[in-house]
Amino acid sequence: AQSNAALLKRREAAVPRGVASAAPVFASYAENAELWDVEGNRYIDFVGGIAVLNTGHRHPKVIAAAKAQEDLYTHTSFQVVQYEPYVALAERLNALAPGEHAKKTLLVTTGAEAVENAVKIARAATGRTGVIAFTGSYHGRTLLTLGLTGKISPYKKDVGPFPADIFRAPFPNARDGITVQDALTALNNLMLTDAQPERIAAIIIEPVLGEGGYTPVPFEMLQALRALCDMHGILLIADEIQAGFGRTGKWFAVEHSGVVPDLITVAKSMAGGYPIAGVIGRADIMDAMIPGGLGGTYGGNPVACAAALAAIDVIEEEGLLERSTRIGEHFKAKFAEIGARAAPYRMWDIRGLGGMVAVEFVSNFNTAAPDADLTKRVVAHALKRGLILLSCGLHGNALRIMVPLTASDAVIDEGLAIFEAALAAAVA
Ligand code: PMP
Repeated sequence: AQSNAALLKRREAAVPRGVASAAPVFASYAENAELWDVEGNRYIDFVGGIAVLNTGHRHPKVIAAAKAQEDLYTHTSFQVVQYEPYVALAERLNALAPGEHAKKTLLVTTGAEAVENAVKIARAATGRTGVIAFTGSYHGRTLLTLGLTGKISPYKKDVGPFPADIFRAPFPNARDGITVQDALTALNNLMLTDAQPERIAAIIIEPVLGEGGYTPVPFEMLQALRALCDMHGILLIADEIQAGFGRTGKWFAVEHSGVVPDLITVAKSMAGGYPIAGVIGRADIMDAMIPGGLGGTYGGNPVACAAALAAIDVIEEEGLLERSTRIGEHFKAKFAEIGARAAPYRMWDIRGLGGMVAVEFVSNFNTAAPDADLTKRVVAHALKRGLILLSCGLHGNALRIMVPLTASDAVIDEGLAIFEAALAAAVA
């Protein structure tokens, strides 16, 4: 039998440390919201491969669809020989995305690639180069997306310079005392000082900040961004890679605000565990690039397309949007309960949209000073007790909930009990 320790040793010798792993254990098997490591230890999974498994590990329908596709062909490259699943998924996404206008979808493989292509398309469509992104945002680890990503350590540390013509605006965040009005004033000032509006191709925003802390963007902010974009001929890109496909109780988080973006980037839970991503957008914009300008050898892999079509069916058939809302309410209530049981737990600002929920740990309630060390200890103690957790936030002190929406109430409550025990151990 394999041991986690022996595998960890091999991994340390063979894999660069830059690929950091939150849990020092190795998977052997997973099903829905549970995972077993190579030593037979069982874990409840509140992370779902970083918001990829809204339909759970190995949903039978997703697996069946992928297997059926594997028996036909697994790769032709859509740029050489086309296949129907790519077209079917594009049609499905065009129909799901907000807005009554005609839409088209480009399929790629990773979230970062989707964001890269959204910016390329926006530049080609507008004939402009500038992009505005926000503090604390995460858009990927490629060089352009790192330029957009608004957090230095660990992502951007020592690897600049980043592409030119990227501007940063403050994210409206209670933790920083920045109101929507403050954020809009800063954005308007940015357009007077550095970012000439008629040279800006796009504003990109996560409707709920993901890696940055599971902080929803107030709806009036999204509405104001839409108006600002319309006024200046700027395209609005909603990065729904983490928030999309039911995490917030709607297909796309931006729908809560009523705002219709020009372009939407998607990935993660779209395909229940298979690598595929996309850019959904207004048809005229999506057609801006000349033939051959978009693509990639693996983009829209047929097995991943089949999995995505099945995962979307599962979200619909199993009512996972509604389930997400209920799961979110449950976590918020339970977190409040746990936090109230013992003030030393130092849980601050339970927040979120639908099932996209987070809680922060602080060292001092009055100053809300972030406590990343406590957060790390909670994660470590939880793992020892059989619960997989992952932190987030610009200060590394938030815990986010990405539990499969297919998880049973019993498994969720078992996980919450482990969370409370881990928290008690971490503050002891
Ligand atoms: N955008 C957002 C909002 C994300 O959460 C992520 C991944 N965490 C990305 C982009 C990048 O996706 P990928 O890791 O698939 O490149």
